[in-house]
Amino acid sequence: MKSKTANSVNCNTCRDHQYVVSNQKGKVRAEACKCFACESCQGTGRILEEDANGISRIRECQCADFNKRLKLFNQAGIPGKFVHEGLDNYEVTPPRHRSLKDALTRSRTFIKEFVQMKGQYSQGLIFMGEPGLGKTHLAVSIIKELILKHGVECKFVDFFELLRDIRHGYGEDISEGEFINPYVGVKVLVVDELAKGRNTDWEITILDHFISTRYNDDDKVTLVTTNFNDKPAIDDNKKSAPSYTLEEKIGPRIFSRLMEMCKKVHLQGKDFRQV
Ligand SMILES: [Zn+2]
Ligand SMILES: [Zn+2]
Repeated sequence: MKSKTANSVNCNTCRDHQYVVSNQKGKVRAEACKCFACESCQGTGRILEEDANGISRIRECQCADFNKRLKLFNQAGIPGKFVHEGLDNYEVTPPRHRSLKDALTRSRTFIKEFVQMKGQYSQGLIFMGEPGLGKTHLAVSIIKELILKHGVECKFVDFFELLRDIRHGYGEDISEGEFINPYVGVKVLVVDELAKGRNTDWEITILDHFISTRYNDDDKVTLVTTNFNDKPAIDDNKKSAPSYTLEEKIGPRIFSRLMEMCKKVHLQGKDFRQV
């Protein structure tokens, strides 16, 4: 690895992160930058050395940790449209609503506390608010940072898409477990678009199993985004269709578990994409 001087950037491709991210087939992927060259192992990830008795042994090089992080990142399933999203480019300057700045601070605090407690931390965040306020941007940015800077295993799941896959899987004799299991055991999971859709009894049963499993496993952390609120909207436009609360959408049992598992983060204001 090259040495860095205080303010100059050695590699313009990766700005000295030593990895580059891109959108490949709809998912964000990270690869080692061409500037990343480990002099200790010449890129093999392994070092051959002799012990005191003259016996050769192979040990893992320090750079193997870097490669593990890239692998974790590429298994996280982050949607490709979030390739450049990070906490540093989440827009909070006025006229954006002040709740967005608060949401950004809460996201940064979450990472700090999670890292300080070395993962012995069980409470996640639930981002609630109208579409277009950047809830998924924040949740994705948190897991990107946890993976790349701290080597934490994280995954992203769009719950609506997962349900569709499960439904499709029935026709091909694939059990729902095969779709759900990769997610239930992961250390930090982003559940995006919770409560989107009709929420039929079948959907609620799957969701209940999903959330209960993570709830009972108390070293798992869940980050949730949802367009629904825990309370009815105060300035609800009477002309629009009646809006449901999150509890009405997912039922009291799942709702109360979620409220225990996650701290609430409310986002308000106008849709980013319409400003
Ligand atoms: Zn580079
Ligand atoms: Zn190495």
